[in-house]
Amino acid sequence: MSRLIKAGALVLRARRLGEKDKLLTLFSPEIGKAGARAPGACNVKSKLAAGAEPFTFANFLLYRGKSLYTISQLEVKKSLVGIRGNIRGYALGLYMAELVEKTVEEGEAFPAIYRLLAECWHLLNEQKGDGDILARFFELKMLDLLGYRPHLDNCVFCGQAKAPFYWNNSCGGIFCGNCARGRTRMALSAGTLAFLRSLQAMPAGKVIKMRAPTGQKRELREILRHFLGYWTGIESFKTQDFLRKISDE
Ligand SMILES: [Zn+2]
Repeated sequence: MSRLIKAGALVLRARRLGEKDKLLTLFSPEIGKAGARAPGACNVKSKLAAGAEPFTFANFLLYRGKSLYTISQLEVKKSLVGIRGNIRGYALGLYMAELVEKTVEEGEAFPAIYRLLAECWHLLNEQKGDGDILARFFELKMLDLLGYRPHLDNCVFCGQAKAPFYWNNSCGGIFCGNCARGRTRMALSAGTLAFLRSLQAMPAGKVIKMRAPTGQKRELREILRHFLGYWTGIESFKTQDFLRKISDE
């Protein structure tokens, strides 16, 4: 197998590595998630510097090492400068990247997740719609693609479709008043459930039209945060702490 490969990829994360280099986390439809050293990329004059930042789409020429790739060349296809210029969009975009980084195994090609992240980053870059709602959409679609799709159609136990419904993380979705006896539960308002169902069913391009009051956005965020944590085992996200710090709520 050749040690030199070509791959298109998104840059999920960039860290300093020693004095001159950077360590990038790439996400590619061909090679999946991969760590790659960008020699000399801390120097702004380096030909690798322009692409060694998050929110970059680029074609890479990579040498395969034992545990890490080394970038020989890169050609930037698109740099999402609109995200970098907006602190909230920036934090939401990094949160999406962190969610991918923490749930996808190294070397596992996952083209559907790649497409989802690329679409959502593009929407953040264009600054259309509500970024928080886009983040909830991203979480729901990620749960779906990872095999943890929440069941929202009817009672997960008896199948009845009449509200009110309740929710707990371990049941994997909603359940009715009859099936709620003896179970840990939280109430789920009809409006929030309808919103979740719409998000779960729609393509990314339509999310930019969705709006919700602050209280409902908070409820959606908390429900999905706990559900995601329960099923993926991820206890915290660095970028969520950052988001809370810059949030005006
Ligand atoms: Zn039931």
